[in-house]
Amino acid sequence: MKDIKVTRCVGEGQGECKRCKELKGWGLNWTSFLYKIEGREGCYCFDCVKAIIEEEEQCQES
Ligand SMILES: [Zn+2]
Repeated sequence: MKDIKVTRCVGEGQGECKRCKELKGWGLNWTSFLYKIEGREGCYCFDCVKAIIEEEEQCQES
């Protein structure tokens, strides 16, 4: 299993979850609730971070 490094996004005010934007058309969230995933562009909310890690793990298994 690959360890994916997740770090908190830093900044003030509102940011955007890249995955929510792609899936739902909007992804506004407070920057303090957004995370960066190592090797990926942009910031992601906690739900998306979880989903992305699950997807990555499934890719590893198959
Ligand atoms: Zn999201």
